[in-house]
Amino acid sequence: MPPKRSGEFELIARYFAPLAARVPGAFGLTDDAAFLEVPDGQQLVAKTDSVVATVHFLPDDPPDLIARKVLRRNLSDLAAKGAVPRWYLLDAAFPKHVGNSWVARFAKGLAHDQAEFDVFLVGGDTKATPGPATFAITLLGVVRPGQGLRRNGARAGEDVYVTGTVGDAALGLLARRGRLRSLKPKQRNYLIGRYRLPQPRVRLGPQLHGLATAAIDISDGLVADLGHVCETSKLAAVIDETLLPLSTAAKAALAARPQLIVPVLTGGDDYEILFTAPPAAGPAIARLADASGVPMTRIGRMEAGQGVSVLDAQGRQRKLAQGGWTHF
Ligand code: ADP
Ligand code: MG
Repeated sequence: MPPKRSGEFELIARYFAPLAARVPGAFGLTDDAAFLEVPDGQQLVAKTDSVVATVHFLPDDPPDLIARKVLRRNLSDLAAKGAVPRWYLLDAAFPKHVGNSWVARFAKGLAHDQAEFDVFLVGGDTKATPGPATFAITLLGVVRPGQGLRRNGARAGEDVYVTGTVGDAALGLLARRGRLRSLKPKQRNYLIGRYRLPQPRVRLGPQLHGLATAAIDISDGLVADLGHVCETSKLAAVIDETLLPLSTAAKAALAARPQLIVPVLTGGDDYEILFTAPPAAGPAIARLADASGVPMTRIGRMEAGQGVSVLDAQGRQRKLAQGGWTHF
């Protein structure tokens, strides 16, 4: 027997309307569109991101984690733009075999992250699909004009920083596929957790105003995403591999198999912020790292030219076939 599934309007009323209850202009998801109050003197910042079963997640992944991850991918983009997230819309396509309890767990995941990141559902679209489950979230945030961060503001001679640690998610994906057997189970689980549920730097992003000159979130891979900053800023970047901030688990993985530096450099999904800043901002960045509890590590420098080079411990340029993930 297929699982019980209510019609579209009942799903919206039962599972999604409660997530919109605190925004008056969402009208309990009973009207055609939401009316949102943008505070005076602020700009809207908008981003959409979607996930498709088998491409971004496996059909038997926990629904709450699927929901949280797609929301967090958007939160990470807005954080990297220095914006404060406020509202989101959800376009959901559920396959026939998905029942009410699955939708309930999906909504519970959203409720959890709404509380954690102070954002609210304000609208969307719901349908059944003969194809794979697909979820698109459009996130809206606010920033004061001139205080947002762009990819194109880097200047030659500036330092390149990353928040947190890099490479965990790429290694976590390998661990999940049964690799990295030499690691302790605790270390493997740590890496898998970093892959399954990213921690977008939502509170930190807006605090980078006045320090960072360019910023991007790492979603395609460190080298590829730094490459985007290089292209739009019309510069080159040189990364010193020995400076990369690595978790204890990632260090253990690299100690056992040094070739894993390749997924660390090119794997996606870390959702850390990569930014550039002038050397004079160094002390203020260190103070912000202390105050926020988010490590920020200098990993290289912007230079005249184009492209990203990575220097290994011997100072040799590392050859990488690909900078990061692309769909096509
Ligand atoms: P319309 O027929 O005008 O497209 P719908 O009947 O699809 O409107 O949706 C009714 C209301 O429910 C709208 O406010 C819409 O934004 C909201 N809504 C529909 N699906 C979702 C969803 N998955 N999440 C949040 N809100 C939704
Ligand atoms: Mg309508």
